[in-house]
Amino acid sequence: MFDSKMIPVDYIISGDYVLTMDENHSVIRNGAVAIKNTEIVEVNLSDEIFKKYTSEHVLKEKDGVILPGLINTHTHAAMVYFRGLADDLPLHEWLNSHIWPAENKWLSPEFISDAIELACLEMLKGGVTTYCDMYFYEDAAGKTAKKIGMRAVLGVGILDFPSKSASTTDEYFANAESFIKDWKGDELITPCIAPHALYTCGPDSLKRAKVVAEKYDIPLHIHLSETEWEVREVIARYNRRPVEYLESLGFLDERVLAAHCIWVEDNEIELLAKRKVGISHCMESNLKLASGFAPVATMLMEGIKVTFGTDGAASNNDLNILSEMSTTAKVHKALSNNPTVLNAKTVLLMATRWGAEVLGLGNTVGSLEKGKKADLITIGLNKPHLIPMYDIYSHIVYAAMASDVQKVMVNGKLVINDRELLTADESGILSKARMWSERIKNSR
Ligand SMILES: [Zn+2]
Repeated sequence: MFDSKMIPVDYIISGDYVLTMDENHSVIRNGAVAIKNTEIVEVNLSDEIFKKYTSEHVLKEKDGVILPGLINTHTHAAMVYFRGLADDLPLHEWLNSHIWPAENKWLSPEFISDAIELACLEMLKGGVTTYCDMYFYEDAAGKTAKKIGMRAVLGVGILDFPSKSASTTDEYFANAESFIKDWKGDELITPCIAPHALYTCGPDSLKRAKVVAEKYDIPLHIHLSETEWEVREVIARYNRRPVEYLESLGFLDERVLAAHCIWVEDNEIELLAKRKVGISHCMESNLKLASGFAPVATMLMEGIKVTFGTDGAASNNDLNILSEMSTTAKVHKALSNNPTVLNAKTVLLMATRWGAEVLGLGNTVGSLEKGKKADLITIGLNKPHLIPMYDIYSHIVYAAMASDVQKVMVNGKLVINDRELLTADESGILSKARMWSERIKNSR
């Protein structure tokens, strides 16, 4: 029976817990979220929501928790096709002898388009609703991510030497600007510019990228101080440490998202904090390449927004933010000799609201609040490794696995329902990935 006092909405999703990740860290026991079009209309107790709203799509997550979608702030998503191609090597040998040659041989819009399907499938199934990329042929990536229904910040890579995607610096910038113009204002895809690093981009390219970022008001994404070699190289070339050098160029401000920041000294951390630079911490990739340990506990104390990135699947070897959260919290407790640092609530904040904020999406996603876009996930708690449950934050960070993610909604659209992709043929995505891997394998 239709009650005229009830407000029709597109979805009502209820669960045992709603983790809003709002400013007050509100947790609603027996809560629900009402969604109309792309937006969250209200987050409240289930009883209140069901009294006020009606919907043809009511999803009751029994033994489930609803939380904002997780945000992967640094990856090279299409590299999923190079997963496991070369492991157990030092970064520079891995890059120079394996990854860059493979990229020069294989990258094309067709490769990117197919690989992004697999990357989006993997990330969505692990509860990631937004990813920030740095790569090439981002137009093909944008079309695919949009088709699958994933939110993405796509950074066109800039290098000072030729690659498959461009042969001159001018061509890299021309590609970037045309991509930015084509995608600026899209509801799912945010264009961004991504000078690769200080050892691959000279001062002219860095300053030019900054001008483009300001002109179009977009994020500026860069690798920074990932290895000791890089720091030595920058000091040899410019007589300054990397963060000091970027500061001297006027590069640093809050639109900058710096991946890694492992080899940073105290004065550099202070500079990053002062300039409100966001950091993408890629713990598992850093561990696997033995790149070192970013001083995350100190960064957090200085008020820097540190967020989670997986980096590419060739160095991780997955795109699993839940496992980054658990690993990162534990490693930094051990490094600090202090189990109170990176507590579970902070870690979830880093993976949600802060992730959105460092990407310039703080008003759009990152928490479950009225007026924000409906990017949310549900995690099923009726599992042996999730019972008993005394603290919901601790559960999500230390016990939940990617395979516990049940439903995923992006921009008000359900894209994963009970672990099944609704927007594309999952078996087709896997077959295409196998086909490409056979080609790559046979050519080696
Ligand atoms: Zn990277």
